[in-house]
Amino acid sequence: MLRLGEIGVPTHFVRRLNMREQLVREVEIIPLEVVVRNVAAGSLAQRFGLTEGTPLPRSVVEYYFKSHSLEDPMVSEEHITAFGWATPMDLDEIMSMALRINDFLSGLFIGIGLKLVDFRLEFGRLYNGDEFQIVLADEISPDNCRLWDVKTGERLDKDRFRRDLGNVEEAYQEVARRLGILPEGGPRDFQGPAIMQ
Ligand code: UDP
Repeated sequence: MLRLGEIGVPTHFVRRLNMREQLVREVEIIPLEVVVRNVAAGSLAQRFGLTEGTPLPRSVVEYYFKSHSLEDPMVSEEHITAFGWATPMDLDEIMSMALRINDFLSGLFIGIGLKLVDFRLEFGRLYNGDEFQIVLADEISPDNCRLWDVKTGERLDKDRFRRDLGNVEEAYQEVARRLGILPEGGPRDFQGPAIMQ
């Protein structure tokens, strides 16, 4: 979030409090899951009968309606604007931010030997009086990204859990280690929650 803020992507992030907590701005969440894909995997591979790992001709952005009870159905811009979840202008902004985030994160991960196959973003409205700004919200982690080791193809993301591949914790720690954000004393070296003043 910090690095994305530095390249001009507005986010809800204020600061990290400790290893487990962050201070973020409260936003009105736009009820969409925005998925960006670079390589065929998961539901896209299934839907179009593609072999997982096939590079896509260009990055593809998809929208899903955030509803657990409806199992997050895929929606088009027509549905989104007709039901009033976002305006065409909001969608232009969301699409352009999603592609910038993809460019930035793809480079960041390739630098640590990981291929960013796909990921899911959420956006929210940050109000200032009657005006609002659309900002990136939620989180970016191996829970909502597919990250494959460039050399071995090993999956270092939630698919390890979803597909019962084992070593879930180790994979997440490996991503944190490569990003240089694992605490020095190892993953158990948490400072505990900080009291907010
Ligand atoms: N994803 C997510 N939350 C969801 C569904 C998907 O974070 O409820 C992420 C998932 O981790 C992957 C990307 O969105 O990085 C695309 O997921 P896909 O549509 O292929 O669904 P899946 O195969 O994970 O069910």
